[in-house]
Parts: sequence; structure tokens; C-alpha cells
Amino acid sequence: MADPWDESAPDPGDLDGLDDVDLDRLLGSVPEISCGSVVGRFAAAVACLESAVDAVAAIAADPGLQAADGDRLIDWTRELERTRNKLQVPDQVLINLMEANRCRTAGPIGLFSTEHQFLAALLGIPVGEARSRVRAAQLLAPTSTILGDVVPARYPALAAAEATGEISRDRVDLLTRAFTEWEKLLPVDGNGVTEDSLAEAEELLADQSKVFDGRQLGQVIDRVAGWLLPDGMLDDRPAQDAVRQAEVRPIGRGMRKGMYRMEGHLTAEAGAKLLAVLDPLSKPRPVLDESGRIVMQDRRDRGMRLHDALEEVADRALRSADLPAHGGTPATLLLIAEEDDFVSGEGAGTTETGDVLPMDAVAGMSDEAEIVRVVFHSQTHEVLDLGRTRRLASYAQTLALVARDGGCTFPGCSKSPKWCQRHHIVDWAAGGPTDLDNLALLCGFHHQRFARHGWSSEQLGGRVWWRPPKIIDPAQKPILNTRFRDYPLIT
Ligand SMILES: [Zn+2]
Repeated sequence: MADPWDESAPDPGDLDGLDDVDLDRLLGSVPEISCGSVVGRFAAAVACLESAVDAVAAIAADPGLQAADGDRLIDWTRELERTRNKLQVPDQVLINLMEANRCRTAGPIGLFSTEHQFLAALLGIPVGEARSRVRAAQLLAPTSTILGDVVPARYPALAAAEATGEISRDRVDLLTRAFTEWEKLLPVDGNGVTEDSLAEAEELLADQSKVFDGRQLGQVIDRVAGWLLPDGMLDDRPAQDAVRQAEVRPIGRGMRKGMYRMEGHLTAEAGAKLLAVLDPLSKPRPVLDESGRIVMQDRRDRGMRLHDALEEVADRALRSADLPAHGGTPATLLLIAEEDDFVSGEGAGTTETGDVLPMDAVAGMSDEAEIVRVVFHSQTHEVLDLGRTRRLASYAQTLALVARDGGCTFPGCSKSPKWCQRHHIVDWAAGGPTDLDNLALLCGFHHQRFARHGWSSEQLGGRVWWRPPKIIDPAQKPILNTRFRDYPLIT
């Protein structure tokens, strides 16, 4: 019989010769796998598996394989997929054994607070993928108690279906996610989720998951959910409470690296409250002139407007936390940058946590955050200026501003003072004083954007006027927001 590792084996191009290769018998005949300790046999089997995969890859690289007919290609492709799927079983066993073995906290690759972070670091896979694998391992493979007792798989029928190789990773993920959600309803009375109904759902889905692809399986899972929850919905607070969840996670890679991903399921009550807050804040905000004519459309889509509204809510919460004591200072920011960058307002600085902040973003924050600047000389890297703290508007100044401006000074804006920040007309970094004459109320939304869109402000006749960029008005005639206060009388 042919041996693919034997130098004298038939030419890989000879497909009839390949048919004679019986890998099962081959592996079974390796003495290390058929006898000896379990640990030794597993080591030998893993080594054999890698050799077999290497052989498959080496022969696949041979142009002679072009002689194979379509039926065989289809069969092989399916068989490779099945093999890949089957590997999930030992993967999951290993994940649970590593946890029992304290590899996550006492292993050579570091100290991790969660299993999925450990697995992601170990394999270099995305955290989300690691999370699904850990979830599957916990539900489909045996686990160990701290005393070392083995607890059988939580869902043996699903585990058996997985062992056939007929369920791909994405389907395993769909199933384990669904069961994780349903399990949360076990302690809640008044719905159809019980240990018995979960066992029935498991039997059903173990069969269906071998037949349907991911999208169809998703529909089957929805139907099973409808059967588990006869009313078709979680309409009472205890049930909603059991599955409530929210996540805001930093993104670690790719185009959006450095941004955050937000997702979750809110209870009816929390969702309604959030929308009540966000709806009015996320309406389009065109720029209007004194007569109410639109000077500039709001081109943000609804998703962007909701995002900006959330940010405004956060700004306001941060500000209100210590409004009486500090006139609304949310944070102290240590900013480290080179002298040239501070002077030019271009380039970037670094915060004490290592975040890189462009200088124009710093300018936008400087009215809200207490910024401690550490200035380095560009060439010598000596510290030129340390601990110079910007002076914030006092509480009394803030009250005077509220009295004078009445709300956001930006043309067309209707945000009341509680949504506003104190803007320096001449930037503090450029020598602008923290005097009433140099301050204006500006809502968080406009505060962040006016500079980027080419607007500038100035005081005329005791009021704050906004000068549009040339592309909006070639004459750049200043505009006053007359929503809160009428025109000043010209004398
Ligand atoms: Zn505004």
C-alpha cells in the first residue's frame, strides 16, 4: 500500500495511486497513537495530523492534480471542510483544559483577566473570534471544577452534532450565542425557558444545524426562540432585565483602530429614556442667519447625528459632575508636545496615557479640560515649560456669560446654557485672556466643529458674532444668533 511519506511512494500525479492511501489505517498503525499514556498518544496524534495536512498540501501543490474530475474536487472540498469543522472539538477541549491548568494567569505568555483575551493573544486572532471560541468551549466541551472533577458538556447533543464535522464555526457560534441568551431567562418566571424546553430546543437544533447554512439556521433559531417565548417577546421588566446588556469597546485594529464599538440591548424603559434624550439633540442643525434663512445645511446622516448627540450627553454629564466647584472642569489633561507644535497649533501631542492628540483637537478641548502643558524643545528635548495650567472661567464669569448670551452663540443654534461650554474667542493658547470680553457660550456640537468648517467669532457691541467662511459667504458678513437675545440697539 502507498505511503505518502515514503520516498518511494507513487508519483503524486498518479491519482489512482492516491486512492490507495488509507490515512485512517495509517494513523491507527502508528504505535504511539494506539498505545501508551493518553498524553503521549495525544502528542503523537497531533504530530501525525500535522504530517497528514502537510502531505495533503504538498500533493495539492502538484500540477498533476489538474487531472482530477469535478466530482472528486467537490468531494475533497467538502471533506476538507468537514475535517476543519471536526477540529473544533479538540480545540474546545484544549481551551477548557488550559483554563483548568491556569495557563491564562500563570502561563508563559502573560497574565490575562479573561479567557478570550488570553486566547486572542495566544493565537493572534481577533478578540471577537476568541470570545466565540471560548463560549463554544464552555457549552460544548467538558469542563473541570476547581477540585479537578470533570463536568460533562452542557449541551451533549450539540456537541455530538459538532463532532460529525457537519457544523461550521459560524453555525456553532450562532447556536452557542442563542443558548447563552436563553439561559439568561432560566431564573426568570413567566416565560417558556426551562431546563426541559432548552433540552428540547437543543435536540431540534442539533439536527437542523447539520442541514441549514448560517443564514437559514438563524431563521430556525428565531423560530425556536418564538416557541420558547410563547408571547414572542420579552415584554416584562424581569425578562428584559435578564438579557439587558451594553458594551463600548475600543477597536484595536483595522481602519477604525482607536475608535470605539458600541452595541447592546436596552430594556424598553432604558431605550425610551435614551431616545427621549437623544431625539431632540439629534435633529438636523442647519446654520441660520438672523432672518431664519438657511445659510448652511446639516449634511450629517441620522447615524452621525445620533453619535454626536451621545457625545453631547457625555459632555454635559462630565460638566455637571463638578459644576459648582470648578465652573465645569471635566478633566485634567497632561499634554506633552514639542514647542513648535504648541506655537503653530499643528502636529500632535501625547497625553499621559500615551494617546496621540492632534493639536487642533486640543484647541477644541482647551475650554473644557484643564490642560497642563509639558513643552519639549524640538531638538534638545529639554522641558521648556511645565505645569502651566490654563485658567478656566470662574463660576461668576459663567453666570455673567449665561446672562449675556442666553445660550449657544452660533447662528441658528437653540441650545440652552446647560448644553454650552465657555469658548475663548481668541484661543487661550494664542494669548487670549479668560475675560468676559473674550468668552462666548457655545454648545459642544458647535464648539468642536466651528474651526474645522472655517467659522470664526468676534465681539461687536457687547455681543458675539460669527463670521462664515468664504465658501459660504464671499463677503464674510458676521452673523448674530438672535434666538435668545434680540439685536443690540445701535446707538
Ligand atoms: Zn450650538
